[in-house]
Amino acid sequence: MNHPLELTVMMYHYIRDSGDAAEAGSGIPGMSVKDFEAQLDELSKQHTFITWPDVRMALEEGKSLPSSACLLTFDDGVCDHYLNAFKILHDRNLSGLFFVLDRGENEGFILAHKIHFLLAKLGLDELRAAILEKLDSEQREQFLWAEKQYQLKYPPISTDKRINLLKAVLQRDLSPEVDSLLSDLFEMHIGSENEIARSYYLNTDQIREMAAGGMHFGGHSRSHPWFDWIDAEVRTNEIKASAEWLQQYEVGPWAFAYPYGGLSEDSPHLLKKYGFIAAFTTNAQLRHSDPYFIGRLDGEEITHEGHGYV
Ligand SMILES: [Zn+2]
Repeated sequence: MNHPLELTVMMYHYIRDSGDAAEAGSGIPGMSVKDFEAQLDELSKQHTFITWPDVRMALEEGKSLPSSACLLTFDDGVCDHYLNAFKILHDRNLSGLFFVLDRGENEGFILAHKIHFLLAKLGLDELRAAILEKLDSEQREQFLWAEKQYQLKYPPISTDKRINLLKAVLQRDLSPEVDSLLSDLFEMHIGSENEIARSYYLNTDQIREMAAGGMHFGGHSRSHPWFDWIDAEVRTNEIKASAEWLQQYEVGPWAFAYPYGGLSEDSPHLLKKYGFIAAFTTNAQLRHSDPYFIGRLDGEEITHEGHGYV
């Protein structure tokens, strides 16, 4: 890229209201539909909305983007995107870029989503206690040690920060150990993980309808690991899985969003090898000198304090 790309990229996760079909009684909060629409109104005053193919062509052909260009992106392929975001975008003749996980029908939830459900149901202290109780003594020691390290590095001062601390320990240090443990807790406190996951994630019909309605899709891995916490072979497989998944839905070269915004040095090389031309981070930036590290602004954090749900 000769010149840095000047582009405002918005990032969204859950868009839902308490009691609607997306929230489905889970108690998991998100950006309200009203706040989302108000933010689109605000953005439209200052920006020209563009589509993923506009960005793709700009990168492929060195074309420039309109000034004050803005791209809307949505992570994790949750049903909120079909039930709430798609209709709003379609009515406004806008397009979104949706980063979807390559998830099989019987693979249940990624770790992060199991945590969202359990936190909403049990609360922070009860969930932490339930996990500690189920760990063996060696794992418990590892848990407490990791917790201590994060506490020293980022002293928790608010409940949101304490939630992020628990998430960091579970999603990074103990992720292989707690994955099935959290599935057990899910079945115990919430219900059938596979059944709930099937309606929680976008299904093939919804994706096809969204694609026909002008929406675009990008990769977000299969199991949503921190890319700096796994080895190169696992990273390669996660990226390959996304490339295979995207072949069904989207013209390449494709876009990728790093799970949790986790970065690793070899990712651009691997992404390029498997047909990706751009990748999006969670770093708040408006000018991007590397197409494999395009920063984004969190729409929910801008509206209010946000929940720290990634
Ligand atoms: Zn994600």
